[in-house]
Amino acid sequence: MAAAESAAGSTRTQLNAAELDALASSRLFHDVSRQRLLERLRPNGEVCLRSGAVLLELGQRNALIYLLLSGRLAIYLDADANIPVAHVEPGECVGEISIIDEEAASASVIALEPSRLLVTNAAQLWELMAEEPALALNLMHILAERIRRNNVAVLESFKQQAHLRRLSDVDPVTGLHNRRWLSEVFVRRIDRCARGDFAVCLAMLDIDRFKGVNDTFGHQVGDRVLAQVGRLLLKQFRPTDLVARYGGEEFAVLLPETRLQEAVAALERFRLACEQTQTSVAQRTTVKVTVSAGIAQWRAGWSLDDLIQCADRALYRAKASGRNCVVIDES
Ligand code: GH3
Ligand code: MG
Ligand code: MG
Repeated sequence: MAAAESAAGSTRTQLNAAELDALASSRLFHDVSRQRLLERLRPNGEVCLRSGAVLLELGQRNALIYLLLSGRLAIYLDADANIPVAHVEPGECVGEISIIDEEAASASVIALEPSRLLVTNAAQLWELMAEEPALALNLMHILAERIRRNNVAVLESFKQQAHLRRLSDVDPVTGLHNRRWLSEVFVRRIDRCARGDFAVCLAMLDIDRFKGVNDTFGHQVGDRVLAQVGRLLLKQFRPTDLVARYGGEEFAVLLPETRLQEAVAALERFRLACEQTQTSVAQRTTVKVTVSAGIAQWRAGWSLDDLIQCADRALYRAKASGRNCVVIDES
């Protein structure tokens, strides 16, 4: 990036009519007459920037305030100057934050086009404020506006982060939460049950001979069947039970505050509902699938992985004993 063409310190700056207009109509000089502005503004000099030139770098010491006469600047809060957070238009100022708190520059400022700026140091600014109290009020307004703008940007960014997190937690085929979500949320829920001395069970479910559905009707139909099973899971289990797609045609259901026999009853209900549900795949063609399930009850000292392993072992036995059944872990 090119550097500034000239630094502060030159002789008294001459303002052309457009530049004077820009300053007189700026927020900073609101309620200060043109005449008084001309009389009282005693800048230390001016800076001319080529497009791309850096005026201020994040973290740099700064004791000057810059008033943009012409051109356009961008403000970046990140060290790499990749994400512009605001633009500076003629009549607006930069550098005022480090003048007020005497800290390093809080942002990088880069010219987006050839720009001309007046430079004033802190002493001059305070002097000017003593003569024109409206300036202090104007500066407060500018800062308040900036804080509000930043608050909106922070809120937007939080919303976006939450949205992305939701997207990365949800399986697009079934709309159910995925394994990533499960590994965080199931652990928290198990902990709560453990602290309250409640029983908690986990069921691992797997669609029987699902490969056959894909092979016979195609992958898209397979996806529709998966989505149907997902909807049925949400419908059949209590709102307090946690349902997730574990991967492939496998699902996991955590049943908090539920003992083994109650879990078996719930899974049996689901198994029967699934057996009776048809997914229509074409005119007059429907598909039915069954599920096998393995259930384990959490024991003190177990991790989520331990619990999954036990439920998986029971699921394996359900498959081995002919499928379309619910088996309890007996280890
Ligand atoms: P089993 O009763 O022993 O579980 O037999 P299965 O055919 O269900 O099990 P297998 O592991 O042989 O096949 C699982 C199939 O699930 C194979 C895979 O292509 C399919 N599958 C996994 N994920 C998806 C998916 O997102 N969409 C579709 N359509 N199929 C999937
Ligand atoms: Mg299967
Ligand atoms: Mg499987």
